[in-house]
Amino acid sequence: MSFKDALKSRAAESGHVTIQMEQKPAAEKAETKTAFTGALQARKVDTAKKEDPTQISTTFETGAVPVWSFSTLKDYEACPYRVYLAKIEKKPQKDSDAASRGTAMHDMAENWVRVGGELPAELSKFTAKFEWLREQFIDGKVQMEENWGIRKDWSPCEWNDPELWGRGKLDVFVRESETSALIIDHKSGRKYGNELKHSDQGISYALHAFHRYPELEHFSINFWYLDKGEEMPRSFTRRQLGVLLPRYHKRAMELTTAQNFLPKPNASNCNWCAYGNGKFGTGDCPYAS
Ligand code: SF4
Repeated sequence: MSFKDALKSRAAESGHVTIQMEQKPAAEKAETKTAFTGALQARKVDTAKKEDPTQISTTFETGAVPVWSFSTLKDYEACPYRVYLAKIEKKPQKDSDAASRGTAMHDMAENWVRVGGELPAELSKFTAKFEWLREQFIDGKVQMEENWGIRKDWSPCEWNDPELWGRGKLDVFVRESETSALIIDHKSGRKYGNELKHSDQGISYALHAFHRYPELEHFSINFWYLDKGEEMPRSFTRRQLGVLLPRYHKRAMELTTAQNFLPKPNASNCNWCAYGNGKFGTGDCPYAS
């Protein structure tokens, strides 16, 4: 008796049921295979029809706010009505001490890097770094407060370009090598609690540099918190920025194609809003909470 027959006989003696796998005829097998291949093909076609997440749309019509910047984008995402009041109604805003001080410190930093002399006390927590930056400036590697523009396809342009779609103004751009650059943003406020917002701002600047200088592969961004002496460095490769681009593009498209600017009143939005009833607001918003 063969081993197979012995097993069958033992199973029969034990009362266990043996299940014989049904063998499909060859023609039926071939039919199943063809159906499976067809299903796979159909799925492939379906997937191809879906939107490619790496592609960006460049042919859309812009709306009432046709040009974006990082600050307008953040305002829009916090409360579209704030952008309506600022950009469409053109309601004036109050001067705030904090904003004026921030502008003064930016001017101070830019002026010192260009001219040198005695470093102002307000910048003294970054003495060594400002000295390094001035050396880079003297070597011709630094751009400061340049008006960088982009069109819908992110091709670089001037702010007066008829196809201008986005604006960026970098405090400092240092060309470190053929393939790497450093972006520095001076902050007079605090780092704590602003990490996400500032990282997001850094990405928007890096995306401008990505398109303006296609030979760059490495992008470092550092925030200098001048009052506190703190820093927040970030870095990206070209490949990483390429992955982040479509989402950023979509956010900017939402702002620049918006038709409705609905208010989003809530305590945290309205307290700090330029049009709310808080310390910094003009009280122009009828929806302020
Ligand atoms: S006060 Fe509130 S609702 Fe009004 S614009 Fe500002 S954030 Fe929006």
